[in-house]
Amino acid sequence: MTLANGRPMLAIPGPSVIPDRVLQKMHQPAPNIYGGMMEDLTNDILIGLKDVARTQHNVALYICNGHGVWEAALANLVAPNDKVLALSSGRFGQGWAIIAKALGADLAMLDWGPHKGLNIAELHQALAADKDKKIKLLTCTHVDTSSSIKYDIASVRKVLDDLGHPALLMVDCIASLACDPFEMDAWGVDVMVTACQKGLMTPPGLGMVFFNDKAVEKRQALDIVSPYWDWTLRAEPEVFYHRFYGTSPTHHLFGLHEALKMILAEEGLENVWARHQTLAETVWSAFDVWSEKGHVTMNVTNLYERSAAVTAAKIDNNMATPIRLWLAENFGLTVGIGLAMAEPGDPKGDSFFRIGHMGHLNAHMLLGTLSALNSALLKFNVPIGEGAIEAANRVIVSKMK
Ligand SMILES: *Cc1c(COP(=O)(O)O)cnc(C)c1O
Repeated sequence: MTLANGRPMLAIPGPSVIPDRVLQKMHQPAPNIYGGMMEDLTNDILIGLKDVARTQHNVALYICNGHGVWEAALANLVAPNDKVLALSSGRFGQGWAIIAKALGADLAMLDWGPHKGLNIAELHQALAADKDKKIKLLTCTHVDTSSSIKYDIASVRKVLDDLGHPALLMVDCIASLACDPFEMDAWGVDVMVTACQKGLMTPPGLGMVFFNDKAVEKRQALDIVSPYWDWTLRAEPEVFYHRFYGTSPTHHLFGLHEALKMILAEEGLENVWARHQTLAETVWSAFDVWSEKGHVTMNVTNLYERSAAVTAAKIDNNMATPIRLWLAENFGLTVGIGLAMAEPGDPKGDSFFRIGHMGHLNAHMLLGTLSALNSALLKFNVPIGEGAIEAANRVIVSKMK
């Protein structure tokens, strides 16, 4: 017997569940790409994206995934041998740094590994040691999706300001945008990159780079920028095709337009943040109970370093992988793999898994996921406390009018 037949549930940290409304908007005949309706739709999307990013500055759109916008942002800013300081608490902080180095940067890293968050004292020390202010760019993740560690971005800005350090602050919000609160302008972020397949609830394929005028100046000082990645005309097009340097991603734009309407016009961004926070606290409350016997642990202990978009966790004795596979086969539920979490005794990182709780997600979808996980922990005889689902229910109930 299988209990998997029915609507499948994808609870991985991206791509996230796509709303039926977004899919339906994509199901329409191909439009003319030369101006007209496509141009209006794109202009609307640009306004919406800036609202979600909380910025008044520039945005360039790309047909690409998250790795694409990593490269797009750096291609506009890295001159050969520029010093780049990359902060990392997991696979994604490292991933962006690798691209900087490949583009010719003189890379330094503060890599705290996948179990430790932002260390402000060490950041201060590293920037203070840069007496001639040679570091041009500082890259970091708002939320590193592999470890689920969140950085306090405003505190990174404060270190730069306290030292009068001119490095551009560049932040990867691919996992966190429209899930965890983020304020590009208020927090003094110079460059932000994101993509459409997580909090923005659209099939993978669109990337966005947001940048302020300080970043424009740095771009203009570069002698050579690869034409496809150059953000200049994309942000200030002379004709519509400059927006995408070629054919626009027509159906992705239909989808994203609908998703932004749901986020901004219907639910409201702050309500979207509050929903994510409540659902995340529900997840954490279940884990608190599962953890009572010491065999299940969340990767992030500090509440303020937890993300409302994703939770990485460990089940002892390499049990996360068999539990994941069992849930997919028997329950129609897919939870995320552990990413880059290998350690001695667990060479493939089979102890780790992740729950994506981002995007188009409501209480019953998440409670279903948690309850399915509870069933799997029982099935595999993992020692856990009793009452995790009850605890999750109580969090939800306490938040409701
Ligand atoms: C998903 C993600 C990426 C990579 O995105 P891809 O679309 O897989 O290239 C990069 N950074 C963060 C923080 C992410 O969550």
